[in-house]
This record gives sequence, structure tokens and C-alpha cells, in this order.
Amino acid sequence: MIVDRRGFVSGVAAAPLFGRLARAQGAANLGPNRLVLLGNKGGPAIRAYAPSPSANLLVWNNVPYVIDAGYGVTFKLVEAKFPLPSLRYIFITHHHSDHNLEAGPLAYNAWAIGLKTPVYIYGPNGVDQLIDGFFAGSKFDIDTRIADEGRPDLRKLVTTHAYSEGKVFADNGVTVTALRNKHPPIVDSFALKFDLGGKVVVFSGDTTYFPPLAEFAKGADILVHEVAYGPALEALAARNPNGATLLEHLKAAHTLAEDVGRIAKVAGVKQLVLNHFVPADDKSLTDEVWRGAVRTTFEGPVIVGHDLLEIPLS
Ligand SMILES: [Zn+2]
Ligand SMILES: [Zn+2]
Repeated sequence: MIVDRRGFVSGVAAAPLFGRLARAQGAANLGPNRLVLLGNKGGPAIRAYAPSPSANLLVWNNVPYVIDAGYGVTFKLVEAKFPLPSLRYIFITHHHSDHNLEAGPLAYNAWAIGLKTPVYIYGPNGVDQLIDGFFAGSKFDIDTRIADEGRPDLRKLVTTHAYSEGKVFADNGVTVTALRNKHPPIVDSFALKFDLGGKVVVFSGDTTYFPPLAEFAKGADILVHEVAYGPALEALAARNPNGATLLEHLKAAHTLAEDVGRIAKVAGVKQLVLNHFVPADDKSLTDEVWRGAVRTTFEGPVIVGHDLLEIPLS
């Protein structure tokens, strides 16, 4: 059993207890098993409502798993008709803000609309500070609403759990495994595999072309992979005074569409889903352009991700 520094029981050993508690309290019907792409842009810059930074929702056997919590995740969940008080698990792939900025606020927003059950936030080292820092900054508001509105203490409902490579989570017949990917300069950056017991969904996280990911995702039903478009990166670099350095950075940390196809092909995944588009705001990059670039190396089914796109998992 893992007990975190706040004294709350957490992680693999603790989840079944709270899982039963949540079920006993009458969980909402979250609808069919599915993957919902909530936010699909790469990078933290907000220039439009959609695509918004990284966020995904998996619903399996009426249990929700949020994977990455970039800015906008709450609004996208509401638009996806997800009842926020049912929030239970959040997994952060790495601590770039386009993946973690709204982790604390998402728990808060669920609480503001009636959350009474535990929320578990899994992330690489630093997840404790991320959430503690949010709670510290919101102390006045949270204390006031507890006293004034009779709410439970949000800080006691939320448990953070730092994970590293290997087994991250096991409960509800679901296991989550992490593979350290390659996203310099960040070291603690991970791909996550959700073995749902019947379906396997893998998220690449942010990574450069990383062949071990193909082994990790072997035979997966769905591989959700980040993607960058080479010609657009070169054009972007050409417009930038430090273009050569910028281009090197982008290629060292992200995966070109053709290489995404190579990973999907070697892994033999049944369905490839593209997300975390870099660039995300170039209107000339239509779905066909992205799909065409991936098609040069992968002949299987490719879905070009859009915010709120739902992919059935049955
Ligand atoms: Zn990112
Ligand atoms: Zn990143």
C-alpha cells in the first residue's frame, strides 16, 4: 500500500476501496465505452477555442480516465456532456503546460459543481508540487467555500501520485503502464498504455521519433500519436531569426508524420489517431494533408484528431 505525504492512501492499493465507495454513492451513467479527443493542439499558445491543448477522455465500464489536462479541458468535458462530479482519474504524461495547466483547476471545477468523491491525479515527478501549488494559491477561496457553502475539503478529495516507468495503475480491470519516451529537455516524459481488458489504447505523449514505442504499442487497438508536419516546420523556421535552432528543437522533441506512420506500421496497430498537431493553426494543413503524409509509411486506418471527436471502443 502506498501512503502519500499528505497521509492519504493512494495509488494501486487504495483505488479499490474508493472505487467501491464511488459506486455505492451511485455513479452517473457515463455512456458507452469510448475515447473522446478533447484537445488536439501541440504547444501552449491559445489562439482559438479549438483545437485546444492536449486532453483526452477514456470511458470504460462507466469509469472515466482523463489523459492530459491542457488549458480548456473543463470546457471540452462539459461540451462532451461529461458530468464533472464523476471525475475520478487524471493522468499527466509530462509537465509541459499544454498537458498539465488545468489539472488542478479541473479538479476544482468538478468540486465547484458538486464533486464529493476522490480524484486521483497521476503524473511524473512534480505532480505533488503542481497540485499543492494550485491549492496554495486557491486557499482563500477553498476555505471560504467550505465554511460558507458547506462543501467538503477539496484538498482531502484529491490525491496525487508520482509515477515513473513501468506499472502506474491497476484497478477496475484496467492497467496503465508507462514507457519513458524521448522529449528533450524533459526527462520524465512518458507514453501511457491503457490495457482496458478487451481493448488496448496507447498514448504516445510528446516524443520525437522513438522506435521502442512501436514495441510498447504492439498490436494496440488504438495508438494516439502526436504529429508534426515537416514542410511547415521548415517554413516556420525560415520566418524565424533563430530558425535553425528552433527547427532542431522541434525535430528533437516531436515526431514527423512519416515517422508516426513508421511507428504505427511496426507496432501493427489497428487504428492510428493523430493528435497534438504541430503546427495546429495552419489552415492549409487539411486532414488530407496530414493523412497523406502518414500514408507514405502506414496503410492502416488513420483518424485525424479534432476536438470532441468520439471514437467508439466496443
Ligand atoms: Zn505538448
Ligand atoms: Zn511537451
